[in-house]
Amino acid sequence: MTPKHADLAEQFITDEPRTNWHDETLWFVREKRDKAVHGIPEWEDLREWGSQIKNHSLSNLSQYLKEFEEKATANGIQIHWAATGEEHNQIIHKIIQKNNIQRIVKSKSMLTEECHLNDYLEHRGIEVVDSDLGERIVQFRKEAPSHIVLPAIHLKKQDVSETFHEHLNTEKGNNDPQYLTEAARGHLRDKFVESELSITGVNFAIAETGGFVVCTNEGNADMGAHSAAVHIACMGFEKIIPKAEHLAVFLRLLARSATGQPITTFSSHFQKPRDGQEMHIVIVDNGRSTQLGREDFRNSLKCIRCAACFNTCPVYRRSGGHSYHTSTAGPIGSILNPNLDMKANSDLPFASTLCGSCTNVCPVKINIHEQLWKWRQEIVKNGYVDTTKKIGMNGMAVLFSYPAIYRLTGKIGRWVMRVVPFITNNQLNPWYKQREMPKPPKESFRDWYKKNGNSQKN
Ligand code: SF4
Repeated sequence: MTPKHADLAEQFITDEPRTNWHDETLWFVREKRDKAVHGIPEWEDLREWGSQIKNHSLSNLSQYLKEFEEKATANGIQIHWAATGEEHNQIIHKIIQKNNIQRIVKSKSMLTEECHLNDYLEHRGIEVVDSDLGERIVQFRKEAPSHIVLPAIHLKKQDVSETFHEHLNTEKGNNDPQYLTEAARGHLRDKFVESELSITGVNFAIAETGGFVVCTNEGNADMGAHSAAVHIACMGFEKIIPKAEHLAVFLRLLARSATGQPITTFSSHFQKPRDGQEMHIVIVDNGRSTQLGREDFRNSLKCIRCAACFNTCPVYRRSGGHSYHTSTAGPIGSILNPNLDMKANSDLPFASTLCGSCTNVCPVKINIHEQLWKWRQEIVKNGYVDTTKKIGMNGMAVLFSYPAIYRLTGKIGRWVMRVVPFITNNQLNPWYKQREMPKPPKESFRDWYKKNGNSQKN
C-alpha cells in the first residue's frame, strides 16, 4: 500500500531544525522570485501571454505535434511515440541495445523520473549516471529527487559531505561547498568524457522549426549531448509550443519563477544531430490525453515545471518533497498524480491549505488551488477518501443540517474542553498532535450576540 502524505510528513517534521531550515530555504527562493518579478513591469502581460500560448497549443495539439514531427524528421531527428511510461522505457532500451551502449549520462528530466527509467534500465543491467549535481547526490543515496528544480533541497551540506565521502572518497567531515563541488565536478567530467549516449529532457519543443530547448544551470545537458554519439531527448507531448518567437515569453517566465534568476544559465537549442551523431526524440502521452479530456484539470498541462508553486506552498515547505510519494511533488504534482492513479494518490489533493498562493505565483496562470479542490470532490465521488474522513464529513453534514444538534454539541464540546480537557488533549486526537488546543469560550457567539447584539446597535 502506498504510504500516505500525512504519515510521511509526520516523519519529516520529527526533525524540527531540518523542517525549519527546509521551510526557510524555500521561502528564500520564493523571495528571490518576487524581487526578480517586481523588476519586470510587464510581468502580468508575460503571464497572460504564456497562459494563452499554452492554451492555444493544447487546443491544437495534434496539428502542432504533427508539424513538429515533420520538421524534426526533415532535420534528421528520429521521432518515437510512446503511449505509456513502459513504452517510453522500451524505446530507449531498444536504442541502447541497437547501439550496444554501456555508458550513459542523463541530465535532469522529470519525465524519466515519472516513467522510472533508471530502475527499468538498471533491472536490465544498464547503469545511467545522473549528471545534474543535485540528482547525482540523491542517486548516490538511492533516493528520489524531492523537488523538480532543486532535487536535493532536503539535504544539508553535511549530508552531501557524508555521501561524497562514501562514494567519491572525499575527506571525511569536510563540508566546504567549494571542495565538495570540485569533487563532484571531477567525477562528472570523467562520466561525460566516457559517455556514449546522453539522455536529456525537453523544456520546449518548437513546432515551427522541429527544434527543442533544454534549460539547465550547470550546462550538464550540453556536456552530455555534445560528447555522446547518441542523444535521446524525452518529452511529454504538452511541451510543444507553436513558434520560436514564443520562447522569448517562456524563457523570461521560467527562470524568474524558478530561482529568481533573469535567465537560466544555459538555454541550449538543439536543431539537428551533428555529423555522425544519432538524435532521437521520444514523445510521451502516459495519461496526458486523459488529463486533456478532463475539463477541470486540462489546464494543469500548461505547467512549465518552474516549481514556484512548490516554493510558496506552506504545506510543501514544511512536509518535504518525499512526503508526496510521487515523482512530481508539490501542488502541481497533487493535480497531475491523481490522473495517473486516483486511488494511490487520493491523499495528495488534501495536502494543501487551498490558500491560493500557488495560483498567484504560477507563471502560466494555472488555477492550481481550484483544481486541488475539484480533485477532492472527484476523489470523494469515486469513493477513494479515507474511511475516517468519510465518517467525519458525514457527521459534520448532520451537525450543520440541524441547528439544535449543532448548538448542543457546541455546548458539550466547550464543557468537555474546560472541565475534562484530557478527553481532547491527547495523542489520539490528530488535531492535538502538532497543535495547542484553543481555550474554549464560556458561551457561543450566538449566545453572546443574543445578550449583547441589540445593546451594541443602540
Ligand atoms: S504549476 Fe505553475 S508554478 Fe507550479 S511548477 Fe507548473 S508552471 Fe510552475
